[in-house]
This record gives sequence, C-alpha cells and structure tokens, in this order.
Amino acid sequence: MIRIPGFLQRFNSVRFRITLWYAAALAVTLTLFSLLVYNSLAQSLDENMDQLLAYRAEGVADALEAYLETERIEVGRRSDAAAKGGVFYKIAPELVRLHTEDPKQTSIALRILDAGGAELLSSAGSNGAPELPDRTLKDALKGNAAYDTIKVEGEEGPEGTYRSYATPASGSGGAVYIVQSYRSTYHTQFALKNLRMMMTALVPLIVLLTGAFGMFFARVALRPVADMARTIRQITAESLSLRLKPPATRDETRELADLFNAMLARLEDSFLSEKRFIQDVSHELKTPLTILKGELEVALKKARTTGEYAAILQSNLEETEKMSKIVGDLLTLARFDNREVRLESARINLKELLERAAASLAGVAGKAGVTVELSAGGGNLETDGDAGQLGRLFLNLLDNAIKYSPGGGKVSVSIYEEGHRPAVKVADTGAGIPAADLPHIFKRFYRADSSRSSSGFGLGLAIAKSIAEAHGAEISAQSAPDRGSAFTVTFPPPSKPA
Ligand code: ADP
Repeated sequence: MIRIPGFLQRFNSVRFRITLWYAAALAVTLTLFSLLVYNSLAQSLDENMDQLLAYRAEGVADALEAYLETERIEVGRRSDAAAKGGVFYKIAPELVRLHTEDPKQTSIALRILDAGGAELLSSAGSNGAPELPDRTLKDALKGNAAYDTIKVEGEEGPEGTYRSYATPASGSGGAVYIVQSYRSTYHTQFALKNLRMMMTALVPLIVLLTGAFGMFFARVALRPVADMARTIRQITAESLSLRLKPPATRDETRELADLFNAMLARLEDSFLSEKRFIQDVSHELKTPLTILKGELEVALKKARTTGEYAAILQSNLEETEKMSKIVGDLLTLARFDNREVRLESARINLKELLERAAASLAGVAGKAGVTVELSAGGGNLETDGDAGQLGRLFLNLLDNAIKYSPGGGKVSVSIYEEGHRPAVKVADTGAGIPAADLPHIFKRFYRADSSRSSSGFGLGLAIAKSIAEAHGAEISAQSAPDRGSAFTVTFPPPSKPA
C-alpha cells in the first residue's frame, strides 16, 4: 500500500478538492461579474458625459443661431465684421456664462471658434484647451457635429485627456461659428481606476475568505465520514460486532453509515454461521467417529467369535454410512452454493413426480402407521426442471412429514395452481414446529429441540431449499402448535411449450 504523507493527504482530501473547485468557480463568476459591472459603468459614464457635452454646446449654438438670425434681419445685407462682432460680443459671453454656471457642470468648458478654428471666446481662459482636429473642423463647416477624445500634452496649462464635442452655429448661408464643449476625462478615469483597484483587491480576498469558510464547512459536513473511518479501522474479523455510530443528520453520510452497518450485520451473520457450521460438522462427525473408535477398541481388546466380529462390523458399517450421508449431503449443499450442480431441464408433471415419491416412501409410512393422501387440482400442474433433484426435494419433505407424525397420523399432499404458478403443499398432522424454530429450520444442521432424538442431521430442509432456489421456486413452512406443519413449494410459471 502506498502511504501518502500527512500534509499531502490534506491536499488529496475530498474537502480540499471541493473547496478548490468551489473557489475556482467563485473566482471565475466574480471576475466575470466585475468585468460586466466595470464595462457597463464605463459605458454609462461615457454616454453621460457625451450627452452633457452635447447638451451644453447645442444650447449655446442654438441661442447663437437665433441671434445671428436676428442680426441678419437687423443689419440686412451688411456683413462687416464690426457689426457682426458687435452683436456676437454682446451676446456670446453671456450665453457661455449662462451655460457653464450650473455648479454641477463647472468642469465642462465652452469655447466658441471662428470658421478657421481660431478661438474667439472661452469659458476657461485660453490655456491648454484641447484643439479640435482638422477633420472635426471640416465636418463642422459642412454642418455636422462630432465627438473627439483629445490628448493635450500641455507644457503650460492643464495636460490630460479631454472629451470634446463640436457643433456648428450657422447663420443663414454656411457655418459661421463652431461651439466646442469639452471636459477632462480625469474624473471618470479616476472613478474607474478606483473601481478597478477595488475589484482586483476584493475578488481574491472574497475568494480566499469564501474558500476558508468553504473548507471549514466541508470539514464540518465531512466530520461524520472521518468518525466512521476511525471506527472502520478497528473492525476486523474478530470485531465484526462493532457498528458505526450513525450521524444525527438525515443526509448521505447517515445513509452510508446505515448501509455499512447493514453490510456489517450481514457479514457478521454469515461469518458466525460459517463458524457455527464448522462446529456443527465437527460435532456431527465426531459422534459416529467416537462410536466407531470405541467399538474397534473393544473388539481389539481380546479375541472374539466370528459372530461378535460380524456384529461389530455391522455397527461400524452403520456409523460409516451415517458419516458418508452427512459428507454426501454437505457436498451437495456446497455444489449448490457454488452453482456447480448441472440441472437437467425437462417438462415435469408434478402429480406424477409426487406419486412416485409417495410410492417410494410407502414402506416407511406403513411402518410408522401414517397414511399419505394425494390430491391434484385443476389448471397447469407442470413445471420445467430436474426430475431427480425435484424428486429429492419432495422425498425430504415427505420423509419429514412421516417422520414427525405420530402413528395414525395423515400426510396430505396437494398439487394446485395459484396465480398461474404450480404449487405443492405437504401437510401433516404432527406436533408442529415451535414458532421460535420456524424461521431457522431451513438452516444447515438446525434441528428443533423436540427432534433431537430423531435420526436426521438437520440437512434435509437445507438441501430442499437449495434445490427449490436453483429452480426459481419458493419454499416456505407454516405451522401451528399441535395442528401439524405444512411445507409449500411454489414454482415459477412454466415457459410456453416449445
Ligand atoms: P432432520 O434431518 O432433522 O429432519 P431437516 O432439515 O429435514 O432435518 O429438518 C430440520 C428440522 O425441522 C427438524 O429437525 C425438525 O425439527 C423440523 N421439521 C422439519 N419438518 C418437520 C415436520 N414435518 N414437522 C415437524 N418438524 C419438522
């Protein structure tokens, strides 16, 4: 057996594996969840900012357009810069101020550029404003608004990344001004960076903590298994009576303990019956052997007459026959146990089979003053099986019925069909079997105390049971004190005739 060192065993335990799988699953789920939260937050922050930028710039642009339109009406076809500038400079700063003074939006700056991209007005001073890319300028002149993310590498003034929105404010006939709103992405980036940091720190921490809890709970849940293992280690062939203490829970471990205890009970039972069996065999063989030995010793003590020798040899022969019968019966049982008995399979008429069995015991019955009666009902009374073995089964039952019936008794054999199954019942008018013995009479060497004086060895019913089982039949005994006993053999339904 390979011994795993203690500390490695810990990693090899179910507890450790469960925890590991659980922690891995949690780590994956949490990471996915964090990514999802992070991405949707980043997206909604971006969208939010874009909406605000557009709202601010469009507000100024719309108002500006309205004024430009008014001015066009006021000044007619005059388009000198001073006039245009006059109105522009009257209203533009006010507009810009109005759209940037909301305290919540202070970080949004507004600029107004001329068609060439030169700054005319800015809400945040002229330092470090993000310059619009050429493409956006061109787009604006064509009348299209556009978003940009602009990096400012400011030597003076603020540096950083800005999100910007540029929209044209056109009077009649082409773009005249470009209104740009922009805001540093610093705050959003900062918030996202914080979130990122928190998640990278929290996910492993949560996984570790949950893993530790998981390990603890797994240990609590598996404690009954460890307890059981400790008891199981103490169980040997000599201590089969030990039982596991079932845990108080009603879960799988409880089921395992119950099943294990049931298995132990079966093992103990068969171990004990094996032991008892060996004792019984030795005991049964010891008696005739002792008699044999005693008789031989007596015979050898002095010279005997031929008649005396013949009597001794006759007695020896009887004892030898007894032993040979026991050994023969045991061999038969062992063959049935090992499934070594090859059964012939033929269609058997049960009535004929029992008539033959009764006839062969007619002499014994006559001697005992017992009458044997046979009755057959209707229906199918045939079965498939080995005529020799089944004959032996019923001989054993009939022999017992005659043996255990007093003179003048009656043995009734009925053959009938019950639920499409042929059955045979052998009932007698004997003393019956005590209820305490009834569950055991099919065991090897078992004899009810009242029958100890009889000639049997307690193997007849065990053989009958083995033969019945080999044929798929069921054998049972019913008895009531002083009302006789009845043995019933129920066969499986016969297969359809070929
Ligand atoms: P045995 O050789 O002792 O008859 P069996 O195995 O045939 O052994 O029977 C086992 C025991 O069952 C008997 O010793 C007897 O106590 C009881 N038994 C069996 N058949 C009958 C019966 N017909 N009437 C009363 N007791 C019976």
